[in-house]
This record gives sequence, structure tokens and C-alpha cells, in this order.
Amino acid sequence: MADFDPDESGCEHLRVQAHAKVNLYLDIIGSRSDGYHEIETIFHSIGLHDDIYLRKRIDRQITVHCEHPHVPCDPRNLAYRAAKLLLDNTPDLSGVEIQILKRIPVAAGLGGGSADAAAVLYGMNALFDLNLTQRDLMQLGVQLGADVPFCILGGAALGRGIGEILTPLPPLEEAWILLVNPGFEIPTAWVYQQINLSLTVPKKNVTILARCLQNGEFVNVARHLYNGLEVPVLSKYPAVAEIKTKLGNRPGSCGVLMSGSGATVFALMQSQAEANLAAANFENDFAFCRATPMSRVGLRIS
Ligand code: ATP
Repeated sequence: MADFDPDESGCEHLRVQAHAKVNLYLDIIGSRSDGYHEIETIFHSIGLHDDIYLRKRIDRQITVHCEHPHVPCDPRNLAYRAAKLLLDNTPDLSGVEIQILKRIPVAAGLGGGSADAAAVLYGMNALFDLNLTQRDLMQLGVQLGADVPFCILGGAALGRGIGEILTPLPPLEEAWILLVNPGFEIPTAWVYQQINLSLTVPKKNVTILARCLQNGEFVNVARHLYNGLEVPVLSKYPAVAEIKTKLGNRPGSCGVLMSGSGATVFALMQSQAEANLAAANFENDFAFCRATPMSRVGLRIS
């Protein structure tokens, strides 16, 4: 971060907090010819976030800096692709320098790349006074990835289609979760390949969980957590199953689920104190372990 001072030059730069998400519910209901899957999901933003620093450039170049070894600093980066999309759509826009302070574990089911892309769209809209609406940004975002529209919307939402048809829900108030990641990546494509859509397995109903959120019933939300991708992951990766068991047995844990295609597992915790205590207890056992509050927002300019 040494060559980037966000306090240096007035409105020529800004910082956006890009929040991670968890899926409180995820069911795969069909496949599509474009490789995406039809899903029913309930997204929720969480406090854990990356910081995205944006600075105007005088040319039309896009540069990306990130010190995380698994995050590419080139056109493969979703944040780069978000900036490119805006530049391609806005002829007189100058370029942008993007610095990513990565806190969200990478390829972990927490939507880190999508959050960064959302932050670039949102931040550049403010930095360059583009006057795009949230809806405009979400329509651009879906071209980058299925989770990007939710990362722009933030809070809690029911997602249908590929996750881009969103109905906002009231976020959980003052709830804390514990996140644990074993430190290895699970290939998302492999996980989806394991889903046999013709197999009729008993599923939970997304509308029940949505209603629990609408009524602010924390314990019932925790009781109805569901992820249809868990079965293949837990049977192939015993380390993830072990995390699930450990989090489930932890005092104060009300419900445990793998997020997205894994490998992060989260527990909805009864209190901040129990979440922090559990995080301290597991700190040395896992590659990543963090207590964090649920968040009402996906993005924040700070
Ligand atoms: P999702 O939950 O949306 O499926 P994820 O959290 O599992 O996403 P990401 O952290 O977004 O996964 O990373 C997926 C891949 O994208 C990684 O292999 C990573 O190298 C690449 N990538 C590109 N841009 C970024 C970025 N800005 N941050 C993190 N990863 C990125």
C-alpha cells in the first residue's frame, strides 16, 4: 500500500468497503445452456470486507495492485473487468488505479471477487460522477458474475434466476457469525458437476427461511439453513465435515452451514461474546477463523 495515499488529493480518489456474503440458503434447481445454474438462494452481507482504493488516472489505463498471492493483478481480476466494463460504456472516462486490500479469503464461497467488482462499479460511479442508478450498476454487474448484483444491493435478499433476480429481505439485526475456512480451495465447477438434478432429495423451502427473516426470527433462520451443495463437498472433503461438526458443538452456535460452493463454513451465533470466544478458541486450529457481525450493506464509501 506504500505508493497509495488515500488522503493525498481531494476527490480524485476514494475508498470503498466491499463486503463478503454468505448464503443462508442455496438450492440448485436447473442448469442452463450458458453454463450457469438456476438457483434459489438467500444472500446475506457480512461485516468482513476488502478495502478497494480507487484513484483517477490521467490516461485510459486500468491498473490493479493486490498483495494476495492468489489474486491476479491483470485483466483476469474481476475488479479490473468491472473498470473495463465502465470504460467501454463511457467514451470520455479516464482510467483508474485500483488497490485491493484483501481480507476476504479467496475462492472460499464468500463472494470476494464479486464484492470487489461491485465496489469498483459503485466507487467509479461516485468518483467520476456518472449518475448511474443502483439498478444500472446491477445490470452492468451481472455481466461480470452472478453474485455481483447482490453485492451491489447488499443486506439480505432472496435470489432467483442465476442469483440476479433479487427480492430484498430485512437483514438480521445485531447477529454475529463465526467463519471457518480450512485453507484449501474446492473447485466450484467440480461441486456443481456433482449435483444430479434428476435426483429427488427432500429439500427445505426457501419461502420458509424468507418468512423467518421477514419476522426477524433469528433462531428459526438458524434452524432452516440449507445448502444443496453441501452433500458432495462433505463426503469428498472430511476436513469440511469436521469443521461443521466442531462449529455445531460450540456453545452459542444456533445453526451451521457451508457457504456457496465452500469451503468456508459459518455458524450463526447467539451473541457477539460467544462468537468472539469461539474464534479465539479455534484460532490455531484452522487457516482462517473470524467472528464478524451480519451487515446491512454490501458496499460503503469511507
Ligand atoms: P463465489 O462465492 O462468488 O463463487 P468465491 O468467494 O468462491 O466466489 P473468489 O474469492 O471471488 O471466490 O475467487 C474466485 C477466483 O477468482 C479465484 O481463483 C481468484 O484468483 C479469482 N479472482 C479474480 N479477481 C479476484 C478478486 N478481486 N478477488 C478474489 N479473487 C479474484
